[in-house]
Amino acid sequence: MQIPLLDLRPQHEGLRDEIIAAVTDVIDSTRYIMGPELERFEEAVAEYSGCKYALGVSSGTDALLLALMSLNIGQGDKVLVPDFSFFATAGVVSRLNAEPVFLEIDPTTFNLCPNHLEEKLENYTEEELAQVKAVIPVHLFGQCADMQAILAVAKQFGIAVVEDAAQAIGAEYRLNGEARRAGEMSDVGCMSFFPSKNLGGVGDGGMVTTNDAELHHQLRIKRVHGAEPKYYHKVIGGNFRMDPIQACVLRIKLQRLEIWHEQRRQNAAHYNQLLGSAQLEEVVCPAAVYKDDNLLNHHIYNQYTVRVQRREDLKKFLQERGVATEIYYPVPFHRQECFADLGYRPGSLPESDSAAQEVLALPIYPGLTLDMQEYVVENLIEFYRR
Ligand SMILES: *Cc1c(COP(=O)(O)O)cnc(C)c1O
Repeated sequence: MQIPLLDLRPQHEGLRDEIIAAVTDVIDSTRYIMGPELERFEEAVAEYSGCKYALGVSSGTDALLLALMSLNIGQGDKVLVPDFSFFATAGVVSRLNAEPVFLEIDPTTFNLCPNHLEEKLENYTEEELAQVKAVIPVHLFGQCADMQAILAVAKQFGIAVVEDAAQAIGAEYRLNGEARRAGEMSDVGCMSFFPSKNLGGVGDGGMVTTNDAELHHQLRIKRVHGAEPKYYHKVIGGNFRMDPIQACVLRIKLQRLEIWHEQRRQNAAHYNQLLGSAQLEEVVCPAAVYKDDNLLNHHIYNQYTVRVQRREDLKKFLQERGVATEIYYPVPFHRQECFADLGYRPGSLPESDSAAQEVLALPIYPGLTLDMQEYVVENLIEFYRR
């Protein structure tokens, strides 16, 4: 059996004709930059995510960059980020000549640990604290970071919060007792529509979300080089626009998103059950820490990430048996060569290090069958029981 890490064909089945017709309409319209198709999609995402404003942008990375630019982050500023995430979370901070500060993660959820955040801020001098402008919690693998605690600490220290919701569109979290969605709990939320995300386009795309009218204004003008009106620039922005071809495809796919989340969640439940009965000491299933009957999207499983022993050998073994897996992410930020001059001691963030050494993502995509999942788990069992 051949099992890819991700197969997008089951998603496209049934939507293909509608998508082709919509793309053809865009091409025939001769409107290729922003326009009404983009506005329709933005309204749909704002409604879906429960936020006031949503702006389509060129990628998830550009969403983060634009969010930080709209908060006027630059030279001499510090932005706190989890040490374990996709590169963009930290890369955008450095691109603005600000300093990314790497924080320890929670070993159960892989997300930013609020206690370490608080401790870091408490240990700063007045002067250092004045430089800290924002924190970027990442909702890694499709489960929200502990926003209740993170927002409280950020408020106490007067810093902005930007959610990296690239892997978490629609993920829910109970904030002050109310069900809320990823991207609308903080100052700015950032989403990605990279094809492998739960909602993926036919190319790059992203979204910024906010409930703040002034930030929305900044985001809107900085998306188009800071122009207001056209050709008059009080501030500097970039070209961060989403094109209407992506917007029309994503709007059609958004209508199926809840079904796909549910299929991913069912696949996760199957893995949990299969791995649970196998009782392998060497494999730890991902924990859904906010599971609650009234919080359907407590985890949207953009990835089903297990912790394993002897990972490299296991990955090779599975590959030989036709099962594709991936390591998200093998190198934590504090060990990346490009951040060497920030002076982190290797080993200074042990939870992040151990995650980087142990994580392995198994196929979880909508359309993966129970037979395929059984095959994956049989091979895991065989590897450890040989
Ligand atoms: C995918 C991703 C991004 C970047 O999104 P792109 O659309 O690929 O630029 C940022 N942060 C995280 C956590 C991601 O998974």
